Amino acid sequence: MQGKIGNKAFVDKTLNENNLYAKKKFGQNFLTDQNILSNIVDSANIDKDTFVIEIGPGLGALTERLCDKAGFVLAYEIDSDLLPVLNKNLSEYNNYEIINKDILEVDINEDINKYKKDYKNITLVANLPYYITTPIILGLLSKTSLIRKYVMMMQVEVADRICGKPKTKDYNALSITIGYRAKATKCFNVPRTVFVPAPNVDSAVITLDLYDNPPFKAKDEELFFKLIREAFSQRRKTLINNLSSVYSKELINKMLMEFNIKLNVRSEELDISDFVKFSDYIFENRNE
Ligand code: SAM
Repeated sequence: MQGKIGNKAFVDKTLNENNLYAKKKFGQNFLTDQNILSNIVDSANIDKDTFVIEIGPGLGALTERLCDKAGFVLAYEIDSDLLPVLNKNLSEYNNYEIINKDILEVDINEDINKYKKDYKNITLVANLPYYITTPIILGLLSKTSLIRKYVMMMQVEVADRICGKPKTKDYNALSITIGYRAKATKCFNVPRTVFVPAPNVDSAVITLDLYDNPPFKAKDEELFFKLIREAFSQRRKTLINNLSSVYSKELINKMLMEFNIKLNVRSEELDISDFVKFSDYIFENRNE
């Protein structure tokens, strides 16, 4: 499908005619490249059995593609000024609902249960507002397990961190926090030039596929996520030094010896299963 919305002439004309402008405070950069829109939708494997959640439909460039392929599209748009033009742009579709709310504030499970009916899969597809990429992803992952696949465009540096592997510069607390629940895959890069207005950064599209049978299970997940944050709090420090602000050095020393790991190890050398082992060890031994 060749959409009518995602091209520069249409975006410029729509903004002009409706006295609108791209609002920086809402991270509004409208996508104007048909090939990239096709590639995003293809990465999501959507069909009429799919219930799609979109964040930030904007003028509807991605939404029209999603409505064309999916059973239903539930989209959250914070900017009420965009709603009349968005509904006009999508007037040929009746399989969508726009909710004029901040995605960080919604009860996602309640909304899914209200609109989902009997679609088989729930997939999130979004060209995210970049200023809140991490809170959106971590918020949704912690609030719902109903969304099984995420296809998201974001700043390329954040995409690389989420998909980062141990012993690389991109690997950090975010790679592990997300990698604990989902398989993260980088799909393709997107240059800044395909947006109106062009942002100051390049972008990338990634997918997250939630594990049906998670390979990792920490005994106390709250402790595990806190441990990850502390372990990566200062990159140049060793694991022991990073953790010594919250746990005793003796406990961490004993733990590393128990697992046969050198005492001056740095967090970026360790993988998710190591941190799960550590978290379980601390859970069982911290009050000794
Ligand atoms: N999907 C459109 C596209 O690809 O052209 C617009 C993407 S633009 C990068 C991000 C969109 O997210 C904007 O429409 C913006 O108003 C919306 N947005 C920003 N913050 C939001 C929030 N907290 N909740 C819901 N939508 C938000």
